[in-house]
Amino acid sequence: MSPKILIVEDEPSIAENIVYALETDGFAVTAVSTGREALEKAAAQEFQLIILDVGLPDMSGFEVCKTLRLTKTLPILFLTARSSEVDRVVGLEIGGDDYVVKPFSPRELAARVRAILRRVSTMPLPPGKAGAVLPLVIDDIRCQAVYFGTALVLSRYEFRMLKAFASHPGRVFTREQLMEASSEEPDASMERTIDTHVKTLRARMRAVKGGIDPIVTHRGIGYSLLEEWPVEP
Ligand code: CA
Repeated sequence: MSPKILIVEDEPSIAENIVYALETDGFAVTAVSTGREALEKAAAQEFQLIILDVGLPDMSGFEVCKTLRLTKTLPILFLTARSSEVDRVVGLEIGGDDYVVKPFSPRELAARVRAILRRVSTMPLPPGKAGAVLPLVIDDIRCQAVYFGTALVLSRYEFRMLKAFASHPGRVFTREQLMEASSEEPDASMERTIDTHVKTLRARMRAVKGGIDPIVTHRGIGYSLLEEWPVEP
C-alpha cells in the first residue's frame, strides 16, 4: 500500500514536476488545482499527507488548511512563494507541518515528504525514548483527550491547550502561543489567565495519575508537555 498524497497546486508545470517526483518515489498521487477541489478530495478520501500551495486561485492555502484542520489531523506541507509567508505557515495560527519555498527541487520535496511521514508514523513515541509511549491520545473528532486510558473532562479551552502541548512533546510554549492555540479570539488580557488554565489542566491530569507532573514549567518562558515519560512497570 503506497502512501496517498494530495497535491494542491495551480501552476501546471510545478504540479507535474511534483507528481512525477512522488510517483517515481512510489507514492500514490492525486493532484488538484483549487482550494475547493482540495477540500472535496480530502473529505472523500483518506490521504497520508497534503502538499498545499499558499497562492491558489479561489482561496488561500491558509484558508484550506484551517478548514481541513477542523476535521483532519493529517500533515500539511506548504508550498510558499514568499519567505514572508513562512512565519504564518509554521506558526500555531496555521499549524502547517513543514514548508518549501519556491523554487524548489522536486527531489528535495520528495525527501521532505518522506521525512514528515516517518515522523508522523512514530508520533506517539517521544523522541529518543523508544518504549516510553506518550500516555495521551488526542481525539479531535470528539474533542476528547484520553490520559492513561481515562477520558479527561476538559473545557474547550483546556482541550485546545493540551492538544497544542501534545503536538510537540517537550516543546516550550510561551503564554502568548498557548493563548493563540487555545482560543478562537485571542485577547491580550487572557495571557494572565493562562497560568490558571495550566493549573487546572495539571490538576485534572494528576487526578487520573498522581506522581507524574505532565506539564513542565519553564520559569520566565512558558510551559511544555513532559517529553520523557516514565515507562510503565
Ligand atoms: Ca499558486
